[in-house]
Amino acid sequence: MAWRHLPWHLFLRRGASSTGAGAVDFVPTSRPIDPSDLERLQAFVSQARRLFVITGAGLSTESGIPDYRSEGVGLYARTDRRPMQHIEFVRSAKSRQRYWARNYMGWPQFSSHRPNSAHLALRDWEAQGKVHWLVTQNVDALHSKAGHQHLTELHGCTHRVVCLGCGALTRREDLQRRFTEMNPGWAAEAGGVAPDGDVFLEDEQVLHFRVPPCQNCGGILKPEVTFFGDTVDRSTVQFVHDRLAESDALLVAGSSLQVYSSYRFLLAASEKQIPVAILNIGPTRADHLAQFRVSARCGAVLPTIQPC
Ligand SMILES: [Zn+2]
Repeated sequence: MAWRHLPWHLFLRRGASSTGAGAVDFVPTSRPIDPSDLERLQAFVSQARRLFVITGAGLSTESGIPDYRSEGVGLYARTDRRPMQHIEFVRSAKSRQRYWARNYMGWPQFSSHRPNSAHLALRDWEAQGKVHWLVTQNVDALHSKAGHQHLTELHGCTHRVVCLGCGALTRREDLQRRFTEMNPGWAAEAGGVAPDGDVFLEDEQVLHFRVPPCQNCGGILKPEVTFFGDTVDRSTVQFVHDRLAESDALLVAGSSLQVYSSYRFLLAASEKQIPVAILNIGPTRADHLAQFRVSARCGAVLPTIQPC
């Protein structure tokens, strides 16, 4: 029997994840799932003809990627580290040096994360014509790695690099090679890895790290992700609104919707009277806009739902 078809209750216990040792360390605890919740979610998905899906950090924690906000296990709870602010990155060469040094160290691990059963389930739903469009707040490329086709990475993707001078997009993997060439022998002890690939290093360790400029124009290179304090491109937001307008149901998976860039689509769905269901451990900002919420791990629930 394929593991995806095992009964859902086998996946509920912490440590029973199929995603590898240590992966569930970043997943908040949740109560056992009420079977009637699963039936309700199954009915919701069955009725949808063009399902619109929004995913967040809660989907990727089961792949071993910590999020910032989860109670007890998120980085806000475990450390005093905060994510890079856009204005700080743009204005300060020292901040960029620190950011890229940590990012360079974290990249081999961060880029090696694999999609989990939740990503694969949504990919299968799309392949079977259930999912009209998927919007993710995650910057880890796990939906793409799973083979999902029609998606918008609302906050960009760490696997791409953008030049702030000429706008050229390049592969993060290629930049990793340039880092290595420019910093032979540079090494440091790395600590935990943050959602954006950041790593904890001492200040002295980053002092001698060399950061290359854009090869086209000499401009500043930045991950093609929306840092805190930056806003999502207006045309991207409009594009997502258009896809939502073509949909007849909205499922949120693994997001508390605290960030307005995603929450606005819940407001739009409410305005258009598009029914909403939420799958997330813990309350969300949009609970009052949803028909119902299931409090459970995405990887425990999504593979059990049939897309037909
Ligand atoms: Zn450039």
